[in-house]
Amino acid sequence: MSIELRHAAACYQSADGEVEAVRDVSFAVTEGAFVSLVGPSGCGKSTLLSAIAGLEPLSGGSIRIDGQPVEGTSPKVGFMPQRDQLFEWRNIWDNVTLGLTVRGEKDAAAYAHVSELLERYGLAAFAKKKPCQLSGGMRQRCALIRTLATQPEILLLDEPFSALDYQTRLAVSADIWRILRQEGKTALLVTHDIAEAVSMSDRVIVLSRRPAVVKAELDMGALRPLPPMERRDTPEFHRYFNTIWKELDVHA
Ligand code: ADP
Ligand code: MG
Repeated sequence: MSIELRHAAACYQSADGEVEAVRDVSFAVTEGAFVSLVGPSGCGKSTLLSAIAGLEPLSGGSIRIDGQPVEGTSPKVGFMPQRDQLFEWRNIWDNVTLGLTVRGEKDAAAYAHVSELLERYGLAAFAKKKPCQLSGGMRQRCALIRTLATQPEILLLDEPFSALDYQTRLAVSADIWRILRQEGKTALLVTHDIAEAVSMSDRVIVLSRRPAVVKAELDMGALRPLPPMERRDTPEFHRYFNTIWKELDVHA
């Protein structure tokens, strides 16, 4: 499934008046592509993801998913937040099947798919454990499996690795890149980490400070087939990193 934003704009009402979060953002994510949105903190990245997920309306412009205007949430769109939001009192199996339980899913095939995902991504032995018995990286993989359990076509990831320490973050981002590739999902990742965006994406969209406009859009070209850790060893990686760094203009 594809995503298309045209002249997206978003405002918030606050005690001091209107806050213009997003001014004019247009971009498209084609089916099966992995696209990252990078931009300074507070520029409107989460606001855009919420609008794509159908959680909050835009104040201007449009969003289409597979050509259809977004009107509220859709089971075709999965959302993975910053913190894993696993329930500590539920075991891993009950956590990863939560979306199915809430939906009242009776189809055994849906549960078999979750078992298979746990198996495939090294978590089957932990199904009866509580989240506190897992490492940060394993918890994040559980959160991803919970999102995949309801079989969305599109994954929206809002800084999903930011609670992890640096080494874990490298390992988990490589894991999640591989899982999303293997599952053939369309993914839109929000991050303020340039290296993460370059190491994981097919394309990177650079946003300005608030109110957000698109400053640049870069195709990762020859890096595309390479997994994240291998990309980090290439001269292209550093070239893209520097280009995005200059666009972000962090000292401004
Ligand atoms: P980012 O995810 O890029 O850090 P956000 O999309 O969360 O940025 O926020 C963009 C801007 O909108 C920020 O200035 C933030 O303070 C403001 N904002 C976000 N949510 C609300 C809200 N519910 N009410 C008022 N202002 C908000
Ligand atoms: Mg945010």
